Amino acid sequence: MLRITDILDKAQSYLPAEELEMIEKAYIYSATVHQGQVRLSGEPYLTHPMEVAGILVDMKLDAATIISGLLHDTVEDTLTTLEQIEKEFGKDVAFLVGGLTKLSLISFGSQEERLAENFRKMILAMSADIRILLVRLADRIHNMKTLQYQTPDKRAYIAKETMDIYAPLANRLGINWMKILLEDLSFKYLHPEEYNELSRRVVKTKESRDLYTEEVKSIIRRELEKFSIKGEVEGRAKHLYGIYKKMQEQHLDFDEVYDLIAFRLILDSDNVKLCYEALSSVHALWKPVPGRFKDYIAMPKANNYQSLHTTVIGPYGERLEIQIRTKAMHEWAEKGIAAHWKYKEGRTFKDDEDTQIKKLREMLEMQQEIKDPREFMSNLKLALFPEEVYVFTPKGDVKSFPKGATPIDFAYSIHTDVGNKCIGAKVNRNIVPLKYELQNGDRVEITTQAGHHPSKDWLKYVVTTRAISKIRNWINLEEKKSSLALGRDLLDKEFKRHNLKLSTSVKSEEIRKLFVEHGVNSLDDLISQVGCGRISAKQIVNHFLVEELAKIPGPALEKVKKKPEATPSLGISLTGIDNVMVKFAKCCNPIPGDDIAGYISRGRGITVHTRNCPHIKNLDPERIVDVNWDVREKQTYPVRIKVVCADRKGILTEVSSTISSFDVNISYAQVETIDLIATCNFVIDVNNLKQLNQIVLAIKQLKAVKSIERMRKS
Ligand code: MN
Repeated sequence: MLRITDILDKAQSYLPAEELEMIEKAYIYSATVHQGQVRLSGEPYLTHPMEVAGILVDMKLDAATIISGLLHDTVEDTLTTLEQIEKEFGKDVAFLVGGLTKLSLISFGSQEERLAENFRKMILAMSADIRILLVRLADRIHNMKTLQYQTPDKRAYIAKETMDIYAPLANRLGINWMKILLEDLSFKYLHPEEYNELSRRVVKTKESRDLYTEEVKSIIRRELEKFSIKGEVEGRAKHLYGIYKKMQEQHLDFDEVYDLIAFRLILDSDNVKLCYEALSSVHALWKPVPGRFKDYIAMPKANNYQSLHTTVIGPYGERLEIQIRTKAMHEWAEKGIAAHWKYKEGRTFKDDEDTQIKKLREMLEMQQEIKDPREFMSNLKLALFPEEVYVFTPKGDVKSFPKGATPIDFAYSIHTDVGNKCIGAKVNRNIVPLKYELQNGDRVEITTQAGHHPSKDWLKYVVTTRAISKIRNWINLEEKKSSLALGRDLLDKEFKRHNLKLSTSVKSEEIRKLFVEHGVNSLDDLISQVGCGRISAKQIVNHFLVEELAKIPGPALEKVKKKPEATPSLGISLTGIDNVMVKFAKCCNPIPGDDIAGYISRGRGITVHTRNCPHIKNLDPERIVDVNWDVREKQTYPVRIKVVCADRKGILTEVSSTISSFDVNISYAQVETIDLIATCNFVIDVNNLKQLNQIVLAIKQLKAVKSIERMRKS
């Protein structure tokens, strides 16, 4: 078991004494809170955070990262809170531990490739500080090393998650040793038979391979000396999963995997030119295999990996793979982003981080010019500055949205119907308003209700084009439907007044002329134009009337003229707020029982006013239509009343309780007192005029009340 002295010994080579003390303090803290907890292996729980910290100290990371490694499970698994961590170890550590706790609450599982990419992006987005991710990877390495103590089900799940999510993440950050370690550890559990067979064969062939390796190394060394190029030659068997993948992809047998050994030439100098010189000396020695040369120096990989790769025909006619790079390139190849993350004395970590992020950004910008744009885009997302948020569906899939997206965007991304019928949302099991801004890692659930429909207000809260266009579509369609129904009603009525029939009239050739005249293509279009007030019903009828009058001789004319009043006005029934095309005017607040009239506003349906509303008198009479109340369900309508009374103590309560005794809601109440006269303004929600009259009567009977009046907005 790793001891704290081992960690401190390593840390003291690059960290100042006061930071070593903090690490020791974190160790004691972790030991105290994890006291009594054991791992599945039977070891004390503390071994786990210790091993994680050990990996981080080997990577020469800063004190806050190592401390976070020691504390990474405290908030999740013990009674410790983030506030306590902050108090004891400062903001930086608390931020890292907070991020780690959030990450550990989410299990990503194994996903098909397309989704796995989203998961990776989400982890990156959640790792606002890359150190969070480094601790998370170290955590995963130790968990994978002790995976044998888990149940078989869990083993498979965790191994797959590691292979699909965490190994590629290590690769993205360029930390090669982590990537290959995680791959091999997962491989062992995902394909145990193949793993065992391969490692057996690799071991079995070790002796002959070592002999061969030494031979090749000395040939290369001699050749380099000739050209006075200084450097180190390495020859190592590839990692097992690398071999396995190669065999799978190229359908090779183990004996055919010649390039089981990867040779590496690491030059002492950081002079890039020498890499190409070394390459040409190798090519002079052995014949290169065409099409196998790759220049990752001129065109670095997405994770900034640089090297020259070539395959040549070796001393026994076998294929031989060689990588050539400088020391700096090698350091990056092995440690990736962590290579430049080492603690430098006299410099705070934060500064270093900023330059690091800047570097990452520059690296990505540079790639824009030379890389496949698709790859560039996907890597830009990696860059920890996402303009996107990643959230979970209830099933655990990940969806990405632009920043600022709301549950409504989420609902529409699932299905148009889910969007249209969305009435509420839960995030992480809590109810949130529909305008809630989604956050990384949120688990979003949508509540729907049949018959519910979108509201225009939603357009203020959505950011995805999909949601915007779906909501607009719905509104347009609905307005068109209502315009059509309304237009038909208006025309029917107008035709009847003149003893004509809409259905027969529209079949005549005359209707074509109307299409041309009004620039429409179909009867429905023409009718909707009437419904939204662009053409009046009279205009249409007049057209047919002229026709009729021409046909009918004298007396009939009288008949037509006389008839109108005989036909009862059908009016338009109002079924209530369900119809988006009907609105109640805010000036007079009509309530059932009031004498009302409708006004066809252009493209916005009918606005209903009371007949005696001063506003309606100023409106175009051509566009005023009869409407009737048809209240089938009990609904409430707001109405404003003003009560003037003597300023007696408790009068407001008295009036209010009178109103409430009718089981009527008061949505607004305000009192103003001048010279012992109190003026109370109320907005109350009544069912109809009858009820209002009863309330008015009851209030009038109160002693202190001088007058009561129903109000209009002026
Ligand atoms: Mn852990």
